[in-house]
Amino acid sequence: MTTKDEGSVSRRRFLQGVGALSAPTAFTPLQSRDGRSGGASGIYEQLGVRTFINAAGTYTMFSGSLLHPEVRKAMDEASRAYVSIEELQQICGDRIAAATGAEAALITSGCAAALMLATAACVAGEDEDAIRRVPDTSGLRNEVIFVKEHRFGYDHAIRNVGAKIVEAETGAEIREAIGERTAMLFFLNFANDRGPVSREEVAAIGKEKDIPTLIDAAADLPPVSNLSAYIEMGYDLVAFSGGKALRGPQCSGLLMGRKDLIRAAYRNGPPFGNTIGRIAKVGKEEIVGLTRAVEVYLAKDHAAEWDRWESHVSHIGAAVSSIEGVRSERFVPEIANQVPHLAIEWDSRVVDLTRDAFVRELREGEPSIEVRPSDPAEPRLEIGVWMMDGDEYRIVASRCADILRASA
Ligand SMILES: *Cc1c(COP(=O)(O)O)cnc(C)c1O
Repeated sequence: MTTKDEGSVSRRRFLQGVGALSAPTAFTPLQSRDGRSGGASGIYEQLGVRTFINAAGTYTMFSGSLLHPEVRKAMDEASRAYVSIEELQQICGDRIAAATGAEAALITSGCAAALMLATAACVAGEDEDAIRRVPDTSGLRNEVIFVKEHRFGYDHAIRNVGAKIVEAETGAEIREAIGERTAMLFFLNFANDRGPVSREEVAAIGKEKDIPTLIDAAADLPPVSNLSAYIEMGYDLVAFSGGKALRGPQCSGLLMGRKDLIRAAYRNGPPFGNTIGRIAKVGKEEIVGLTRAVEVYLAKDHAAEWDRWESHVSHIGAAVSSIEGVRSERFVPEIANQVPHLAIEWDSRVVDLTRDAFVRELREGEPSIEVRPSDPAEPRLEIGVWMMDGDEYRIVASRCADILRASA
C-alpha cells in the first residue's frame, strides 16, 4: 500500500532526478556536434546522451536512420490535429498501394510488427473469436512453413501469434509439408541465396497450393524497384521497415499486399483492443510520416545518391590505403543494405591495432563514430557511408587515417 507520505517521498526523489538531469555539472556529454545531423544534438546534450556519426548503417541499436526533413515536417504537422486512425490508415494505405502497385497497404510500428500482423491475418483472419483468442490457436490453421535456412531472430514475431514453424529444406519438402493446418508460407528475402529454394519458387508454390505467402524484405532497399518487385512476383504479403533506408519514423513498418489480408492484418492490431497486435501501436505521426517517406523515396534521384556514396567510399579508401600495411576495398552486400561500403584491412605485423581498439578509439573520440558490426577477431573495419550527413565522411576518413597512422 502506498501512503501519502511514501508517494511524496518518491515524487521528491523523482524530481531530484529530473533536476540532476538538467544540472550542467551532473552529466558531462561525451561530445556535442552542433549543426550536424540536422542540428538535433540539443536535446541529447541536455540529457547527457552521446550522439555519433553513423558510419555503420541502419541498425536498430544505433537508432535506425535519420528522418528525411520532409518526413519530419509531415510528422510535426500530423501531431497537431485529431483524426480517425481508421480513415488515416485507409487513405495513407491507398496512397502507398497506388505508388507501389500493391492492392492495399498498412502502416505498422515496424517490420517485425508487420510480420506479426501478417501472420495474425493468416491465422485468425477477421474472425472475432479467433482474434481474441490468439496466441491460443487451437482449432485454427496455425502452421507457418519456413525454409530451414531462413530461421532467424525475427521469427519470434511470427511465433508471437501462436503459430508453429514447420521447417522444410527444398521446394518438394515445402509442397509435402503443406496440409490443412498450413496458414502461410514465409520467405526471408536476404536469405535467397542460402538455401536451395528461391523466392520465385515459394511465391509459385503459394499460388499453386492456394496458401498465402509472406516475404520479409525489411532492409532490402535500395534498389527502389524492390518496393514493387515482390508484389509483382506474386507474394500475397510483403513487409519492409520504415526506419531503415526509407528514412521514415524509426518505429514504422510497411505491410503491403492482398486487400483481404491487409484488412485482416489491420483488424488484428491497433486501434482495436484485445488483439495480438495492440502492443505494436502505430500513431498518426508514424502513419503520416511513413507515407511521406515512401513518396519521397520513390521520387528521389537514386543514381545521384549512389554516385555520392561511391565518392565517399573512394575518399575514405584513398585516405587510409596510402598508409603502410593498410588496404581498403569497396564492397556491396548482396541483398540487405545493398549499397557501397568500405572495408579497411591492415597487416597486424605492420599496424599494431586490434579491431576492438580501433572501434573504441572511434567511439571515444571527438566526434564519436560508430562503424558496422563485424567479426571482432579480424583486423578489418567495415564502414557504411549511406547514413552519414554532409561532410561527415571527411571526418571519418581523417580519424581512421590518424588512428591507423598512430599504430603503424
Ligand atoms: C530490421 C529487420 C526486421 C525488423 O524490422 P523493424 O522495422 O526494426 O521492426 C525484420 N527483418 C529483417 C530481415 C530486418 O533486417
